[in-house]
Amino acid sequence: SQRNQPLLDVQNLTKKFGGLVAVNDLSFQVDEGEILGFIGPNGAGKSTTFNCLTGKHKPTEGTVTFRGEEVTSKPPHEMVNKGMARTFQHFAPLYDRSVLENVALAYTSGKVFSWSGLFSLSTITGTTYDAAAEICARVGLQDDLHRMPGELPHAGLIRLELGRALATDPKLMLVDEVFAGLASGEVEEISNLLLELHAEGMTLIVIDHNMSGLFELIDRAIVINFGEMIAKGTPEEIKNDPEVQKAYLGG
Ligand code: ADP
Ligand code: MG
Repeated sequence: SQRNQPLLDVQNLTKKFGGLVAVNDLSFQVDEGEILGFIGPNGAGKSTTFNCLTGKHKPTEGTVTFRGEEVTSKPPHEMVNKGMARTFQHFAPLYDRSVLENVALAYTSGKVFSWSGLFSLSTITGTTYDAAAEICARVGLQDDLHRMPGELPHAGLIRLELGRALATDPKLMLVDEVFAGLASGEVEEISNLLLELHAEGMTLIVIDHNMSGLFELIDRAIVINFGEMIAKGTPEEIKNDPEVQKAYLGG
């Protein structure tokens, strides 16, 4: 029934790059309001999965259904317009635009994730700047509105990535490896920010290569290795799973 329909339904997703199977027959669902961990060692296929969900890559096989609509292989700007936003593991702001302008452009275009350079700042209204400033404040960048992205510390760039994603008014946010390279105090700050978004009703999938970093944050996670799901469940279940322990010991 409509009521039990997951927000996101991924069925038998496979992505091959030539002979390399980066994602192999992966199926999972995400319910509205959930915060799902997506865990696996480096090279496991996590970012590739996000790329297939958001239209950056066309899946080799499988289907993606979002908000009840099959959206497999739709282009990135369509996915953004349908309410799916992401952050990039390798940050992708416009480095020649200020923090505020970056968020305002994301707010205006909804196409920032397939950026073509065609949007002009002259089309941005004062109202949009007000909305963008609010989003900047929501991610803790209220004192950095007029700084350039390159001037931000690493944690500031993560906040900017989250702000640009939020600016598209998503229903689902895909968050890719935001904890790597952060000091522990910053990990807590970014975790708290994600928890605040979750508390406000945002559905999130949060990637991390490191299990323990996510366990404070999530109710449930799936673990992949070599493109295949090897475990799913609560943090406790995952920690004790022999396949997971083997993957993380490199065994
Ligand atoms: P993770 O995000 O879990 O660290 P990735 O999804 O980035 O892993 O990569 C999974 C596998 O797919 C790796 O072996 C990687 O080298 C390969 N891969 C990722 N993107 C491409 C690409 N565009 N072309 C070829 N191989 C790729
Ligand atoms: Mg990755």
